[in-house]
Amino acid sequence: MSFFKRQTSTAPAKAPAQENYAELALRTIHDGVILTDKLGIIQYVNPAAVIMLDCGSAENAISLDYGLLVKIETKEGRELSEAENPLTIAMKTGQALDKYACCLISGPSAKRIPIAISVLPVQGDKRIITFRNIAKELAEEGEQTEFISTASHEMRTPVATIDGYLSLALNPQTATIDERARGYLESAHAASQHLGRLFHDLLDVTKLDDGRIRPQFVPVEMTGEVKKIADDYITRMKEAGLNFRFGTKESEFDSDPRRLDQVIYGFVDIGFLREIMDNLLDNAIKYTPSGGSVYVGVLGDGDRALINVTDTGVGISSDDLQHIFQKFYRSDNSDTREVGGTGLGLYLVKQRVEAMGGRVWAESAFGDGSTFYVSLPRISGEEYEKRMIAVRNAEMINQTSAAPTPQPAPQPTAQPIQPVQPVQPVVSNPAAPPVPATTPPIQPTPPAPPVQSPAPPTPPAQPLVQPIPSNQNIINNNINGGIPQ
Ligand code: ADP
Repeated sequence: MSFFKRQTSTAPAKAPAQENYAELALRTIHDGVILTDKLGIIQYVNPAAVIMLDCGSAENAISLDYGLLVKIETKEGRELSEAENPLTIAMKTGQALDKYACCLISGPSAKRIPIAISVLPVQGDKRIITFRNIAKELAEEGEQTEFISTASHEMRTPVATIDGYLSLALNPQTATIDERARGYLESAHAASQHLGRLFHDLLDVTKLDDGRIRPQFVPVEMTGEVKKIADDYITRMKEAGLNFRFGTKESEFDSDPRRLDQVIYGFVDIGFLREIMDNLLDNAIKYTPSGGSVYVGVLGDGDRALINVTDTGVGISSDDLQHIFQKFYRSDNSDTREVGGTGLGLYLVKQRVEAMGGRVWAESAFGDGSTFYVSLPRISGEEYEKRMIAVRNAEMINQTSAAPTPQPAPQPTAQPIQPVQPVQPVVSNPAAPPVPATTPPIQPTPPAPPVQSPAPPTPPAQPLVQPIPSNQNIINNNINGGIPQ
């Protein structure tokens, strides 16, 4: 209340009535409002904030550090380190934060409430934190996402059938058509393939939106991992007449191997990293004419690993640059219009990068190539070793629990049954060699012979729900699932 009292002393004569209205509004609204000083000490809490923070009364909150009450994690339920927590950054620096969607960990019961949080610096040295419960909006969004994902899934099968029949019609070994019909069928085939890609991409982007997949973090040596992914594209780049170099564009004139091949550790979801790189590399190839170059590199940037995917291609105008990460956005210029695409690739990249606590942006000029940067949290070598040990331990526990229970051989009645030896956990020694698996690898079953059928080759429909491997869950629990400080 002191906030209002202080304002009264300098306010014009008409102000008291206004002030009462302001206070009435603050007491009535459903949004939580907290006022702090520049050190983050709470000076005012409205009733909605008291309920959402589950702190009993405003008096209990006043004079406390805001950090003791307003604890947040990402939407996906991942802990936020100080360096990446937008609330902490806004409170410390006095910068505004606008509607950051996250989860509030409320009160002693640590109940998770989805919120959109904002920070507004006021009167120079004070901060107003507001937060709104977005559970209902998320539920509505979830319904929409579920609809899109189910519809995409259902439509993929008939589209694949159409695509299959068109392929058969266009194949001289299976059909005879005249030249005019070939032209029509080729257009129909291109359209069916575009639809197939669209449904595939739509399914991919909805998977994270509706929580069917969550990032499964593992410790990774980033330079090696990114190089491995980029190497898979070398043949395609050669076919497209492109040069490839691992490093930044500038590194072309820099032969110092220490700068080119830094060992950089990260804590990422390997599947997400591959999807990100696949989309960025695919674009670099699509939008760079023959004779151009593509550069992929990883550099350490303080507590971040900075990946660059650079091309010397058609570039992006400054107008388009502001929108390219939006769903379905495609630049409308003659250089890119000709190239096939769904406008969902960069949206998926942004979604996956942010789910891992990272940031993606692009620098480009029309006609002058583009660089896409992905900045992801980095971990130290020591942290990497610690997490690797946790991963190996989790794998061993998993293998032990997955191994079939040994059937004891018939024993003479007087003999006690020998207990099964427990598996030794990996000791905390970074130099320890990898622990061998306790069970032999399962032999893959040979594929069944193809069944002859008159139907065209329809690819099998993907399962709607991608199961998360159980061992990954254990890994995540063991290592807290959070990004280290
Ligand atoms: P698309 O399937 O259309 O490639 P994306 O979401 O991957 O969809 O990209 C959105 C748009 O951004 C593209 O249509 C293209 O106009 C532009 N774009 C993306 N990457 C590049 C690039 N490397 N060079 C030039 N333009 C690009």
